Amino acid sequence: MNVLSEIIDEIMKHLSKEDVSDVAFEGANIVLYTKKKKFFLEDQGRIREVVNLIKKRIELRPDPKIIMDEDEAEERIKAIIGKEAAVSQMFFEHERSIVTIEVEKPGIAIGKRGENLQQIKEETLWVPVVKRTPAIRSEIIESIRAVLYENSDYRRKFLHKTGERIYNGWLRQKKEEWIRITYLGSARQVGRSAILIQTPESRVLLDCGLDPSGGPNPYPFLEAPEFRINELDAVIVSHAHLDHSGFVPYLYKFGYRGPVYCTAPTRDIMSLLHLDTVKIARNEGQEPIYTSDEIKEVVKHTVTLDFEEVTDVTPDVRITFHNSGHILGSAMVHIHIGNGLHNILYTADLKYAKTQLLSPAATQFPRLETLMIEATYGGRDNVLPPYKEQDEFLVDLILRTIKRGGKVLIPTLGSGRGQEIIVMLEELIRKKKLKEDIPIYIDGMVWDITAIYTAYPEFLNSTVRSQIFHKDNNPFLMPNIHRVGSQKERQELIEEGAPCIILATSGMLVGGPSVQYLRELADNPDNSLIFSCYQAEGSLGKMIKDGLSEVNFKNGSKMHTVPVKLEVAKIEISGHADRRELMNFVKRLNPKPRKVLINHGEQSRCLDLARSIHQQFRIETLAPRNLDAIRVR
Ligand SMILES: [Zn+2]
Repeated sequence: MNVLSEIIDEIMKHLSKEDVSDVAFEGANIVLYTKKKKFFLEDQGRIREVVNLIKKRIELRPDPKIIMDEDEAEERIKAIIGKEAAVSQMFFEHERSIVTIEVEKPGIAIGKRGENLQQIKEETLWVPVVKRTPAIRSEIIESIRAVLYENSDYRRKFLHKTGERIYNGWLRQKKEEWIRITYLGSARQVGRSAILIQTPESRVLLDCGLDPSGGPNPYPFLEAPEFRINELDAVIVSHAHLDHSGFVPYLYKFGYRGPVYCTAPTRDIMSLLHLDTVKIARNEGQEPIYTSDEIKEVVKHTVTLDFEEVTDVTPDVRITFHNSGHILGSAMVHIHIGNGLHNILYTADLKYAKTQLLSPAATQFPRLETLMIEATYGGRDNVLPPYKEQDEFLVDLILRTIKRGGKVLIPTLGSGRGQEIIVMLEELIRKKKLKEDIPIYIDGMVWDITAIYTAYPEFLNSTVRSQIFHKDNNPFLMPNIHRVGSQKERQELIEEGAPCIILATSGMLVGGPSVQYLRELADNPDNSLIFSCYQAEGSLGKMIKDGLSEVNFKNGSKMHTVPVKLEVAKIEISGHADRRELMNFVKRLNPKPRKVLINHGEQSRCLDLARSIHQQFRIETLAPRNLDAIRVR
């Protein structure tokens, strides 16, 4: 049973025609609308019975014609959930009968066992959805939510069309069963992740990224013969980093109007990074490869999924996201193809250790035949030092710098690493290794992404979550954290003599405020510079790390030379699994895959990891090259 009309007929067998006024699809979910208040409020049990019978997700909503007037409903809702929940905004999507209520305290808004939500339904007939107001105001989240609500009518139609594609049966003649994986990028390289999965029926793209390191071939091979944009059914984005998401808006520039599946934090962080990509190109006097119009199209077409939420994306492809431990909202994608035909796990970027912020990647799956795994640190020597050592090293260096009256500059990546360091510093302060009044300044995109982190505490590990929920101790809201938001504030901070810690993007000292701080702080031996991420060949960061003794800065049309006298160090923490973690991850995987495909690593590291997995686990391994297609079934 996989044709729309058959599904509707099947559902209607169990319900009365008079009770249902409309049937709509929201992606793989089926929504029934009713004009009967009593049926909506009292007969959810019957819907559950139908769900059990037909094994599809069904939601019952009141018909937009019977719901309460918006102004009146807003008053009622505020009265029901009370002042303590602190409502910041309410959005009414009339066509879907959904009201989204943004509050500071979701638990209070929902009430004991959801009693407030029930009361809202009974009194207003609107279906309430409660969302958390970010603890730090986030312009990007506000504008994304605005785009979604402004386009709620379009979204209803788009989601219905997506559902029709999933349920309306097969477009192509199915003769023989096969599955093919083509690497359009990221094979034997880090950057431009884009992998096409083809079945007789479906065309699904896993990630669509750029190579942001400034290499000669920054874009994936979309001109490959098997990739036809008008045939593409779905795009799945594992996480927000540009090497996985940076080329998605380009698909919309060339006419793609299908869904992008990702988690909610991924949607928010990736939009911020996309907008930044456009801004950087313009600042450098280049024409950006896409504009904010296409970035908005991506937002309009996202379908967000939570971890472990199973969803059909085409008639024969069903996906489930699992935590990958890499950055906020980063997912591994489990892909179930056909009716038990084949199961693939695409890890994208993974971390197999508990970090300051996230839990380790998941390892238990219902079924698994082919594993696609990354190899950023796949070489046998790619072992990171223990975390505790890094911790002690950081404390020593900060204390030493403060004692001599200097400032500590930590250039960092906006997403992931910056937040790890903030939580690291918070822990050191809580354990009284650092003084609680030491000022921490945050500049550049680190701040915007930190704000997104505060909107989704449910994606963080249990330790941080309980800090936030039970002890009301949000590490991102320490009183000694300050935002640097303008050139004037930056200048004041530099001129003021007091010791402090400064976190600023970019992490490799290629553009962004970190370079500006370096210019002012470099010639004073009391200051310190701590690298916290990978320094690519050719970057200023790499040159200083290798001992560069003076730096030339452009000062208008003149050059201005600054000697590098500050103390230079690096801490080695990573959002990627190192060699040991990768091997452990494969060892713990249950069930064991029959085939392993390795990508996202330099050539030698991919090959080395492939050899070792084969030797240790007796599994067939392969390190494909770009444009290689592998038939896995
Ligand atoms: Zn990544």
